[in-house]
Amino acid sequence: MTTAYPITDHAYDVLVVGAGGAGLRATMGMAAAGLKTACISKVFPTRSHTVAAQGGIGAALGNMAEDSWQWHMFDTVKGSDWLGDQDAIEYMCRAAVPAVHELEHFGVPFSRTPDGKIYQRPFGGHMRNYGEAPVQRACAAADRTGHAILHTLYQQCLKFNAEFFIEFFAIDVIMDDDGACRGVIAWNLDDGTIHRFQAHTTVFATGGYGRAYFSCTSAHTCTGDGNAMVGRANLPLQDHEFIQFHPTGIYGSGCLITEGARGEGGYLTNSEGERFMERYAPTAKDLASRDVVSRSMTVEIREGRGTGTEKDYIMLHLEHLGADVLWERLPGITETAKIFAGVDATKEPIPVLPTVHYNMGGIPTNYHGEALRPTKDDPDAVVPGLMAVGECGCASVHGANRLGTNSLLDLVVFGRAAALRAAEIIKPGASHPPLPKDSADLALSRLDRLRNADGTKSTAEIRLDMQRTMQNNAAVFREQDVLAQGCKEIDEVWNSMGDIKLSDRSMIWNSDLVEALELENLMVCAKASMYSAEARKESRGAHAREDCPDRDDENWMKHSLAWVDDKGKVTLDYRPVHTYTLTDEAEYIKPQSRVY
Ligand SMILES: Cc1cc2nc3c(=O)[nH]c(=O)nc-3n(C[C@H](O)[C@H](O)[C@H](O)COP(=O)(O)OP(=O)(O)OC[C@H]3O[C@@H](n4cnc5c(N)ncnc54)[C@H](O)[C@@H]3O)c2cc1C
Repeated sequence: MTTAYPITDHAYDVLVVGAGGAGLRATMGMAAAGLKTACISKVFPTRSHTVAAQGGIGAALGNMAEDSWQWHMFDTVKGSDWLGDQDAIEYMCRAAVPAVHELEHFGVPFSRTPDGKIYQRPFGGHMRNYGEAPVQRACAAADRTGHAILHTLYQQCLKFNAEFFIEFFAIDVIMDDDGACRGVIAWNLDDGTIHRFQAHTTVFATGGYGRAYFSCTSAHTCTGDGNAMVGRANLPLQDHEFIQFHPTGIYGSGCLITEGARGEGGYLTNSEGERFMERYAPTAKDLASRDVVSRSMTVEIREGRGTGTEKDYIMLHLEHLGADVLWERLPGITETAKIFAGVDATKEPIPVLPTVHYNMGGIPTNYHGEALRPTKDDPDAVVPGLMAVGECGCASVHGANRLGTNSLLDLVVFGRAAALRAAEIIKPGASHPPLPKDSADLALSRLDRLRNADGTKSTAEIRLDMQRTMQNNAAVFREQDVLAQGCKEIDEVWNSMGDIKLSDRSMIWNSDLVEALELENLMVCAKASMYSAEARKESRGAHAREDCPDRDDENWMKHSLAWVDDKGKVTLDYRPVHTYTLTDEAEYIKPQSRVY
């Protein structure tokens, strides 16, 4: 049975899906170039996850000490564990300096040095003179950098008359018979109407898919919608196995507890009350590096020494430090623990878990933001009419591991690059060829199927199965048996989606339906991640395999590509890493061992 959905049509020169930092920078640039630009977002723009970014945006301004974009480039390549594309990395690091000055001119209230320059703080992996010593490169607006950038960019978009469609949920892309993207079908959550957006270029800026995991620092909206829409259009997802973890996110909510808590003397225990880090890292103990601590926690849980009825978390103790110390040195953490774990950290331990923080992989693109459909003959072939920027894209500047502050940078640099490219290839007001007859079928049949779903499992139950499978089987440290089992289990979760039950059939503010659509999107991302991880028999960046502990450049210095079909079958292939730079001002950085 199919329901008739009246459709409202819209035509734009360009359409941006997503209003986080990447989407807003692209929207602003396109509108400023005179292109008729629409931006649609499932949440109010300034509620996008970018608002939560705290630390800063990286650029070699050299305000605190000598710095250069070539040093920034070296650090980014090394941070990527040589999986990043060096042409794109050169583009980003060179563009970083003008990008930050541009943000300053747009009105971002950066913190200042006493002589009035933009203040810069140190951050992990950012070094001077090709790895010699730390450099202060992170430009910060106090600890609210993302908030400041997002609000400033939204104001700029309004200035240039970009049109916003807020609380519109994009369901699927429209592809034509020649394999070009022609727009999207979206649902207006407020009045239940369906809208067909036609555009010469559609830019995805839909953010990450942290919510595929049980514990993540990302917003509830980070459900990989763009990645999945592109996946459903028979295009591949790149490097989905590379997922960045932080050791101490609060169990359940995933809110971050800073490493500073352990710096002040906090320690971790298992269900037996044992300070297990003493076994894994006798000298550094709880202050060993992030990957070592995350790995040790995972082993404890896997061997049955996790805490709680499901034995699936670890305790972080701060109570011995005393209320005075906590309120003086860690007031934010103490408050966060109260709100998000219901725990008084001055009296009891905080339940924590290694927590998903960022997705390095996504929709493969070149450094203009144009999406790729790699073939054997042309691994860099472009999909006409489709771009991807920000966390949903994979340019690839982060490779196997992102450096802190490089995501906010990626958003504005590639948001701008996409706008420049669109202005180059699109003539404002050019007429639109007719759309394929079946342009809305994929999206509307999905809607219909879910609205009529009358199985036995709730969206929440299936989502929890997926999140547990990802958390247990594609975690911080990985090995063949666990990953192979993960593929089996994620297949079972996929199959269980056929048994989904929705309790609400309405089209107006139906959060049940939104969550079901988001679950289907997360499942595409989860499948690509699990299968790509199982296949990659080496350790590189965030993909750390206990059974293959070394990086293997000869066989594995290549990007993974995963196609997930509508039955859930995953097909893998690979494309070469770009081992060349854009100009002679940057030298190709040859692989070396990654020690800090
Ligand atoms: C807690 C936290 C702290 C961080 N701190 C830093 C930091 O200090 N420095 C740094 O560089 N990076 C940091 N990061 C990473 C960085 O903030 C993110 O990678 C980045 O903000 C992602 O931006 P984005 O524009 O790609 O997507 P988002 O900001 O996530 O925005 C996605 C947009 O897409 C829209 N959307 C999604 N799906 C749909 C759909 N189906 N239909 C319509 N609209 C849709 C949403 O409404 C939203 O507007 C942090 C991340 C987190 C989670």
